[in-house]
Amino acid sequence: MGYFSNATEWEYWAGDNCFKCLHWPKTDEAPGCPVEMAHNLYNYELCNEEKHPGKVILDLLIPRRKGGTGNCKCAMFKPRNGVSDKHLKDWEKYKAMMAEASGINP
Ligand code: SF4
Repeated sequence: MGYFSNATEWEYWAGDNCFKCLHWPKTDEAPGCPVEMAHNLYNYELCNEEKHPGKVILDLLIPRRKGGTGNCKCAMFKPRNGVSDKHLKDWEKYKAMMAEASGINP
């Protein structure tokens, strides 16, 4: 399961997941993401369980990294606006090239 020890850790992870994801609500009135809501509701309650069905389901949705240090990418992540991981990598490469060309260190 995705486990976040505090809001800052979640925001850091969400920057590479939820905030770039099609399932993240676009307005305050839009329904929340069920994956994120399920974690909000149950991850503290289930984090020390091993075989509880709820824990197994949360583990499938946001797996922990091997060794338990941090969270992997959300299994339900879907790029927003058709932007793929390749687009994002190409954009990072483009920004680095432009920074190098202009003499600015990124
Ligand atoms: S599907 Fe995953 S990455 Fe997307 S908004 Fe929900 S929790 Fe975040």
